[in-house]
Amino acid sequence: MLLNIEEVQFRYGGLVALDSVSFSLKKGHGISLVGPNGSGKSTLIDVISGFLTAHQGGCTLGEISLHGHSPSKIAELGLCRTFQYPRNSGGLSCFENVLAASLSADSMQWYQAFRPRTIRQAKERAQKWLDTVGLSDMSDELAATLSFGQSKLLNLACVLVREPKIVLLDEPVAGVAKQYRHKLISILEQLKAQDVQILIVEHDLDFVRSISDSVIVLDQGKILAQGATKETLALPKVLKAYVG
Ligand code: ADP
Ligand code: MG
Repeated sequence: MLLNIEEVQFRYGGLVALDSVSFSLKKGHGISLVGPNGSGKSTLIDVISGFLTAHQGGCTLGEISLHGHSPSKIAELGLCRTFQYPRNSGGLSCFENVLAASLSADSMQWYQAFRPRTIRQAKERAQKWLDTVGLSDMSDELAATLSFGQSKLLNLACVLVREPKIVLLDEPVAGVAKQYRHKLISILEQLKAQDVQILIVEHDLDFVRSISDSVIVLDQGKILAQGATKETLALPKVLKAYVG
């Protein structure tokens, strides 16, 4: 099921934050969404993931329209996102955060969540993803004690434990220590190899170049350019939009 964005328009009051935005993701493909601050990147992620509803146009997943679906319904369909400012449960341990995400992944009746086998498998999945993002040492620490970068990695583990088919990442490396970038790149490469569709919002162009197969440049809510990463980022109009 491919994600398709069709003619999306979104307004905050009179301000048009997204104007006729259309594109599609591909299986095993990483697309980066770049553009100056305020160009509409986070708004687009919010619309796709169901946190905001488009005023015109919309998104489809295969034959399914995502219009009007809640974020949790969209996540059940296999589309999960991380946040620019991660939202973890600070009063739970890192492990408990990922376990809760793992248990909410299966669309099951509440009583099924108490079956020993379900809990054991959810725990195993949670541990695996905590290890993968490099937070196994912090397993029992409260999420509130994590640094900003670690909170983002925990948020990522909570998303990946659900084994999504489509992942949207809002600024995954901003504020994250250098040593985690390589880890993140290798996680994303693995996901691509498993045919996951990936959309990344990121300002760090070195990271964008190393992970994305193509880029979409947003400027003032419109697509300014899209295509192969290196060539598109070198276009004069793209450089101008960044420098002003
Ligand atoms: P980006 O993620 O590219 O920095 P955003 O999607 O956050 O851009 O913002 C796009 C535009 O919408 C900006 O002009 C921003 O000021 C405006 N905007 C974002 N969130 C809100 C909001 N909650 N209310 C009003 N305007 C907003
Ligand atoms: Mg943003």
